[in-house]
Amino acid sequence: MRRNIVAGNWKMNCDIPQTYELLDALKEQDITDEVSVIVAPPFTNLQSANQALLDTEILVAAQNMHQESTGAYTGEVSATMLKSVGVEVVILGHSERRAIFGETNALLTAKVNAALENEMTIIFCFGEELSDRKAGSHFDVVRQQLEEGIFHIEKENWNNVILAYEPVWAIGTGETATPDQAQEMHHFIRNTLAEVFDTDVSQDVSILYGGSVKPGNAKEIFGKQDVDGGLIGGAALNAADFTAIINAFE
Ligand code: PEP
Repeated sequence: MRRNIVAGNWKMNCDIPQTYELLDALKEQDITDEVSVIVAPPFTNLQSANQALLDTEILVAAQNMHQESTGAYTGEVSATMLKSVGVEVVILGHSERRAIFGETNALLTAKVNAALENEMTIIFCFGEELSDRKAGSHFDVVRQQLEEGIFHIEKENWNNVILAYEPVWAIGTGETATPDQAQEMHHFIRNTLAEVFDTDVSQDVSILYGGSVKPGNAKEIFGKQDVDGGLIGGAALNAADFTAIINAFE
């Protein structure tokens, strides 16, 4: 049975004092327990965030990780390191990682494998560029990202996967996919999963929508049948806005 999930991707925002401030504000909010809530602060704040949230149900995720467990990879952080500070969830394949840091589907395959070998939960992001949508190739692009990045995993590992469809043209732009566009793509993804795996996988995986979700549009987007929540960027940096998005499920 799939879960409703709202995850906040803080990107490169919030130092330690700001992290405590935001989490304290979040803990004061009245958050529905119908939704699994995840926050993804920068690496430096993961352990502090985890400790600050110990008395809550909110999980902490990393925004990225390296595919090797140790070695000469200056500036990188591995799955075992994340686990050693209590982090069990990792975002992989965010469009900013793909576009700015050149992460390919092949690299993401290796990261997916490393995360799963370490029994972590993955939030796997993918989505088309505006040019793909204008050319009418958005379904093909999304299918290819999934095929090359995550379709190699075994059926039993899908319990540890959350998918996040994030059309690149809607991220941080204020431009949102319409609820119908989101539903159309989520339905396509679920049908593809049923075809490649089976209906257990397709019906049980949570598929989040990401791209300029705000308190004002969350209810309509989350109301769609195949949308199980959101990956939230900008609005996750404000406790009241993030809470309003989570509570859009009520
Ligand atoms: C994101 O970074 O994953 C995202 C969806 O950002 P925003 O909500 O700001 O568009």
